[in-house]
Amino acid sequence: MLGVDIGGTGVRAARVADGAITSEVARVPLQVRSVGEVVSRVAELHRELGGTSVGVGMPGFVRQGVVLGSPNFPEFTGVDLAGALRDALGVPVAVGNDANAAALGLWRVRGGTEDLVLLTLGTGVGGGVILEGRPLVGRGGTAAELGHIYVGGARRCGCGGIGCLETWCGTVGLVAAAAERGHAVTCGEDLVEAAESGEVWADEVLDAAAEHLGKALVTLVNTFAPDVVAIGGGLTAARARLMPAVDWLRRYGVPPSVSRVEVIWEGAVDAFAIVGGAEFAALQARR
Ligand SMILES: [Zn+2]
Repeated sequence: MLGVDIGGTGVRAARVADGAITSEVARVPLQVRSVGEVVSRVAELHRELGGTSVGVGMPGFVRQGVVLGSPNFPEFTGVDLAGALRDALGVPVAVGNDANAAALGLWRVRGGTEDLVLLTLGTGVGGGVILEGRPLVGRGGTAAELGHIYVGGARRCGCGGIGCLETWCGTVGLVAAAAERGHAVTCGEDLVEAAESGEVWADEVLDAAAEHLGKALVTLVNTFAPDVVAIGGGLTAARARLMPAVDWLRRYGVPPSVSRVEVIWEGAVDAFAIVGGAEFAALQARR
């Protein structure tokens, strides 16, 4: 199987067997974010790496291979991407959301038996929910938008809502929180550095991020009762400072669900997205 991860600036792919990457991870840049460009780049990677079936993670709302909407790839709205790729490649193709791909990949790498939630703290906050071996997608393709769990506050989110988790733990939210205290940072790493060097305002921003992450963890665990909650993405470099989120969960969550959940920290999730892309193809073949 070939696992493919489509990003804003490039497409990455690798061969995957039994939940493990078995080739180099090849990457080609995207010149434009058009359907034609994406199809030809994926075809190029398929010619190079092979694969009797192909699974793709795509940013946006995807249901049964059709892109229902994608803020970063507006031209794809309504496009049957799986169908277009199948026609171009001549092999079965499955397409799903990229964050769901990362969650599904982690699920597969961990043995494919657990109910799992992945929360990714990066530029935005995303993630996926895998229950009984399947990503939770919903009929509209927009379920499990974990960055937009309401945790409070007055900052407006890129999604149009107010008080989303992303406004506390995504890069834009952290930058805004620093600016509210009169300090300019460009990323979470800057903030961690400032906190390490004893800047009280940076501590306050990270403490607030941890508290609101904790509230989101309570909601996730109370709602889905997963075996595992994995926290990944760039901000997990500040893991030690985010740990109070887990205390928050232990203190306020529903006891039977909290007592069985394991919280793990994962860092980068790029490799999981490729494994999970391939897993979309495996799920489709079993359907
Ligand atoms: Zn939002």
